[in-house]
Amino acid sequence: ERKQLRRLRREPSKTLDGVDIRLYANAESREDVAEAHALGAAGIGLYRTEFLFLQGREVPDEDAQFRAYRDLVLGMTGRTVTIRTLDIGADKADNSGLALRNEPNPALGLRGVRLSMARTGLLETQLRAIARASGYGPVRILVPMVSGREEVIAVRQLLTRVLKDLAREGQETAAQIALGAMIEVPSAAIALPTFARDLDFISIGTNDLVQYLLATDRNNDALGDLYSPLHPAVLRLVHSVVRVARARGMPASICGEIAGDARFTPLLLALGIEELSLHPSPLLEVRRAIRALDLGHLRARAPALLRARDRAGIERWLDAVQPVHA
Ligand code: PEP
Ligand code: MG
Repeated sequence: ERKQLRRLRREPSKTLDGVDIRLYANAESREDVAEAHALGAAGIGLYRTEFLFLQGREVPDEDAQFRAYRDLVLGMTGRTVTIRTLDIGADKADNSGLALRNEPNPALGLRGVRLSMARTGLLETQLRAIARASGYGPVRILVPMVSGREEVIAVRQLLTRVLKDLAREGQETAAQIALGAMIEVPSAAIALPTFARDLDFISIGTNDLVQYLLATDRNNDALGDLYSPLHPAVLRLVHSVVRVARARGMPASICGEIAGDARFTPLLLALGIEELSLHPSPLLEVRRAIRALDLGHLRARAPALLRARDRAGIERWLDAVQPVHA
């Protein structure tokens, strides 16, 4: 079976009815990037930069960050690389001294884009390093923990200024860099129509979206099944986000853990998702599931999925559409 899966490295991620589902990889290390490339990922859909910041005792300077991003871009040989700006906060172990310690409510605190904007120079340095790496291959910038339009506008303004500054300094960059938001805070998901036009792409972060939408700590085992994407509120919200993006022709992916679980692939396709970003290890299993699914059939069953009244109903829908692998 492993051998059969490995054969899929060079096969397209195409549904039975011929629709290409783009599979991007989540990565945070050189090894992940090499594996994503070898498995035929369409690109990197989520590069988590916090690991650069958590490795050492010091905050990496512009040159150190630039070298890391440039190597990432070169490693993907022309496939698109999506670099997420720092998503650190008191919720992650942190030696860099950047995040406030002992915030009473770290998940709701100064994390992600909030921290990047609160610490003078942090975001600018990171944007400069990413922009310099964009001279070596296709790069997009993804902003975590966006809660509404203002943050996107602020990052866009800074990015525009950084590109101008670099041009004046004679540094080579791409002429434009696509800017996207993680949709993982419920306010951003609900209010997306108010700022979709300010974005070039979105990526739905179901790990945090589930946590915030269901008021269930993603790291608290005592909550058991309560922390689950199989909740009608999650499916309805993801569906509405995907519709807003599709209406604008804006690329939309899902990059939470759910994207790496082949059992959930039919559900995501039914909701309208055509781009997934997942850890490289389950990539071939998800590709195999895609190749055994009929997108038209799943879309026709989307209303039944959205009518499901509870987790058991969603599970029944899933059981009924699981592909059979030869
Ligand atoms: C998410 O929240 O779904 C996500 C992909 O980001 P992280 O797990 O890094 O918060
Ligand atoms: Mg997140």
